[in-house]
Amino acid sequence: MQALNKKTIEDIRPAGVRVLVRCDFNVPMSGGKIDDDKRIVESLPTIKYLVDAQAKIILCSHLGRPKGEFNPKYSLAPVAERLTELLGRPVIMAEDVIDADAKAKAAALQDGEIMLLENVRFHKEEEKNDPGFSKALASLAEVFVNDAFGTAHRAHSSTAGVADYLPAVGGFLIGKEIKIMGDALSNPKRPFTAILGGAKVSDKIGVIMNLLDKVDALIIGGGMAYTFIKSQGGQIGSSLCEDDKLDMAREIVEKAKAKNIRLLIPIDHVIADDFSNDAARDTCFGACIPDGWQSLDIGPETRQLFAGVIKQAKTVVWNGPMGVFEFENFANGTKEIAKAVADSGAISIIGGGDSAAAIEKLGFADKVTHISTGGGAALEFLEGLVLPGVDCLQEKDKKSCPVCSSEKTKFGKLAGSAELRSIDPGLGSSELLFMFCADCGQVVSTVVAEPDKIN
Ligand code: AMP
Repeated sequence: MQALNKKTIEDIRPAGVRVLVRCDFNVPMSGGKIDDDKRIVESLPTIKYLVDAQAKIILCSHLGRPKGEFNPKYSLAPVAERLTELLGRPVIMAEDVIDADAKAKAAALQDGEIMLLENVRFHKEEEKNDPGFSKALASLAEVFVNDAFGTAHRAHSSTAGVADYLPAVGGFLIGKEIKIMGDALSNPKRPFTAILGGAKVSDKIGVIMNLLDKVDALIIGGGMAYTFIKSQGGQIGSSLCEDDKLDMAREIVEKAKAKNIRLLIPIDHVIADDFSNDAARDTCFGACIPDGWQSLDIGPETRQLFAGVIKQAKTVVWNGPMGVFEFENFANGTKEIAKAVADSGAISIIGGGDSAAAIEKLGFADKVTHISTGGGAALEFLEGLVLPGVDCLQEKDKKSCPVCSSEKTKFGKLAGSAELRSIDPGLGSSELLFMFCADCGQVVSTVVAEPDKIN
């Protein structure tokens, strides 16, 4: 978490302490079975660290969109089972989130034991960041660890709200994500190339604008490229286009020119007469896609051009597919760009979502530096936005108790159970009060008070 100077799990003393850990266990499931446990595996370092440190561990997460109601389809029970297998130790499953069963199980936890609360989105208050719900969740524990990068761009109770009531620090996964992406943005090895694709330019304008201040080359592919091509006077047939963003696309092209940034857009296209895998297809060179045809993938010349630039890069950030990769006949552009990124030898960061899925499906996951666990969160981070789930964590250099490192919470008292003691009557009509930390006994602050206000 160095990049943002936030406290991490290594800045707390978790032994014997109830620690509420927000994980991202929002895993793909079918028929009650977990299809891909990557997100569970990614949260193991934080959980294992807390087990070794003999904390009392209370895990929580959302899964899917249960719309604020209990629904067994979205129960986290299969995650508890998978965690039990991966950790080789039992994970106690709570029947609810903040109700009687969760409270009783949290209270009974022994040092080093782990429990998992039910899906936080079984309560509609979660997504509203309701203070009452946040407080109830916080009351189960004494410290909050946020390790859910995938939901860090959401200001929900379990991702940010609880930090109003508990000292909050980051876990290893969230720390890794922020360090790698933060370093790439703030101090990239050059040349730094960003590759952006996907459907809509409107979704990525913020990212493009932020990256234009940082990159040496910007590659634009996928459906969003056709708004750029049309903005430069090209014929795009019925390819995807956002007509209300043509001016914005022109502005981006001008800005890139002014900053001497290489902006690359497709020079040839795999076109189709229908939005379907089985549509008639052809390859079209130049910005002259005939009426009735749409581009669903970048063409072979474009792939070569893009791959050449990627090969020279020392840092690559990629978000968004180069075409409709869900259709096998239009997946080759995305596949070749994935291969170019994997073979580049550059520091390579895949910003979650479809590009992460493509890299993994093609077996290149081990050849890239980092695949983000958060699609939306990675995009917002690349956009330079403040993520609420990170913003709520304590600053590393914030004044805290010099010995036990507790901080003031919104309850208005010191988390480390400090107490006031009167020491020195004899300052005339006033008294000097010393505030001690009850954990360590050291003076935290001094106050001069009127005698009648002292009890
Ligand atoms: P996004 O969520 O914005 O990253 O967009 C991903 C989606 O963009 C995928 O579902 C792709 O099928 C779609 N996409 C990529 N290229 C094109 C294209 N040329 N035409 C239409 N859709 C595309």
